[in-house]
Amino acid sequence: MADVQVADAETFTFQAEINQLLSLIINTFYSNKEIFLRELISNSSDALDKIRFESLTDKSKLDAQPELFIRLVPDKVNKTLSIIDSGIGMTKADLVNNLGTIARSGTKEFMEALHSGVSDVSMIGQFGVGFYSAYLVAEKVIVTTKHNDDEQYIWESQAGGSFTVTRDVNGEPLGRGTKITLFLKEDQLEYLEERRIKDLVKKHSEFISYPIYLWTEKTTEKEISDDDEEPRKKRKEQLRKLMRTRRKKQRKKKIKESLTNDWEEHLAVKHFSVQGQLEFKAILFVPKRAPFDLFDTSKKMNNLKLYVRRVFIMDNCEELIPEYLGFIKGVVDSDDLPLNISREMLQQNKILKVIRKNLVKKCIKMFNEIAENKEDYTKLYEAFSKNLKLGIHEDSQNRAKLADLLRYHSTKSGEDLTSLKDYVTRMKEGQKDIYYITGESKKAVENSPFLERLKKKGYEVLFMVDAIDEYAVGQLKEYDGKKLVSATKEGLKLDDETEEEKHKREEKKKSFENLCKTIKDILGDRIEKVVVSDRIVDSPCCLVTGEYGWTANMERIMKGQALRDNSMGSLDDPNTFAARINRMLKLGLIIDEDETAGEDADMPALEDDGAEESKMEEVD
Ligand code: ADP
Repeated sequence: MADVQVADAETFTFQAEINQLLSLIINTFYSNKEIFLRELISNSSDALDKIRFESLTDKSKLDAQPELFIRLVPDKVNKTLSIIDSGIGMTKADLVNNLGTIARSGTKEFMEALHSGVSDVSMIGQFGVGFYSAYLVAEKVIVTTKHNDDEQYIWESQAGGSFTVTRDVNGEPLGRGTKITLFLKEDQLEYLEERRIKDLVKKHSEFISYPIYLWTEKTTEKEISDDDEEPRKKRKEQLRKLMRTRRKKQRKKKIKESLTNDWEEHLAVKHFSVQGQLEFKAILFVPKRAPFDLFDTSKKMNNLKLYVRRVFIMDNCEELIPEYLGFIKGVVDSDDLPLNISREMLQQNKILKVIRKNLVKKCIKMFNEIAENKEDYTKLYEAFSKNLKLGIHEDSQNRAKLADLLRYHSTKSGEDLTSLKDYVTRMKEGQKDIYYITGESKKAVENSPFLERLKKKGYEVLFMVDAIDEYAVGQLKEYDGKKLVSATKEGLKLDDETEEEKHKREEKKKSFENLCKTIKDILGDRIEKVVVSDRIVDSPCCLVTGEYGWTANMERIMKGQALRDNSMGSLDDPNTFAARINRMLKLGLIIDEDETAGEDADMPALEDDGAEESKMEEVD
């Protein structure tokens, strides 16, 4: 044809290391090939960033193509996938240098890291050679590119040691930008499928800040017209339509669509950016309810996603947020982390540690904000109180702050829950400690004989009836400078004795020494010791645990955990049961009910320091 100009192709040899890298990429068995798309889209995004930046000082730089976009065009007939961007493009010199003749230091490092197993192919972008990942799926790659300062050029290579660069005299003008056409290997044709591409973009490049358009095919029967203007017009129209829907979707997404794939509105959301020594943005959601498998450790949480410069890096990243906050959903986008950082590297990464610290702080702040609305906080607490308690157990740095978020029923709270802060405001004059009782349920603890003296003195006692309370309170130890004291442990001192009372008590104790010894002899190993105590008022005896031992409730929990079987069955209402047994004993010993009631009774209460299992133990 007379009007077709042909430009001469110049052939270049790949720099030696790049050549090695290419054969490595082509010949290594590596299944996670899909990352190529992320790399190429990320390159496009960088190129768009560059032209946008230039246009800030010189608007005319955008003239050749005012719109900033990325387009993905699968072509099933030719088995090609093209990635087109209206970014800065490359001059001829850029093409020759950047895509083949000048090796980056990362080339060698990447190969070494691959050999030693420190990194895998998916981390290629981190070494500055992401472009070559195209050869994971393509046997031939053509790069057509137009920079504002140069003509349009074509780079082409099937690897194999060399590439060519040709001036593009007849091709469709790009205006400005780069088109990368991948001639897919026969076994990689899945990357022509609309569904597959969409999923990949969603997974890896969801937060690229430029619109990504996907060219889709619609099969409509139509007469083939001679006029070749017709299909072009149609194509254009189709593309326009696509762009419109994509943009509409994007806009909608910003206001409504949740990033979390949750089917329900969130309870709270926090969007913030941190600037200074390090920069990152994040959006965090508190869901309304806990998933049924919240603490299923076999299932990894998948709620918080890590992005680096808007490129998806990974989800369920333990280094990003502690386990107890695993229910928080959202996105974190860091500007400082290297792209394609590996899991191993994440573990030691200092930047990530700072991000994590910040996220925890923000979460706690968010919970405090929710706590201002009682109804909302009830929802949060019902769903995630176990998480907060786990936090108290594990996060020593934030323990005090998390303690403010705890809520419990108590001897004075009625139907409501009380915070520790409120408890403190109600403390009686002279009361030094905060009292609590642990047990299986509110019903099981509220009439416990352990509470008798405390109640009588008007001291409030918190009901800790969640298994995890045992662990949490074991770590918390104090709140607002006040010790947390278990009502069921040995040596509960109320510091209210006069010298005279003390003397009287010692006397009584002495006079019952023989009885205690006899009981201990009879019960033998089943208990540790028998002591006279003033802990209880109405009941004749109770089993307590040693000051430093597990509470009976803890033993119940440990047994439950070890055996994962509740068939032994705890008593629903051990207090009533114990009262009945006591009554039977009294009847047997012919002791009048009234005679022993009240604190003036001659017979002091016996306190068995029992370690052995017994139904009575469930009393606390
Ligand atoms: P990196 O992007 O990490 O620098 P790559 O191997 O992916 O490494 O790309 C090498 C270089 O090629 C880039 O630095 C950039 O100059 C150029 N390049 C790659 N893709 C594009 C593109 N779509 N538009 C403009 N330049 C590009």
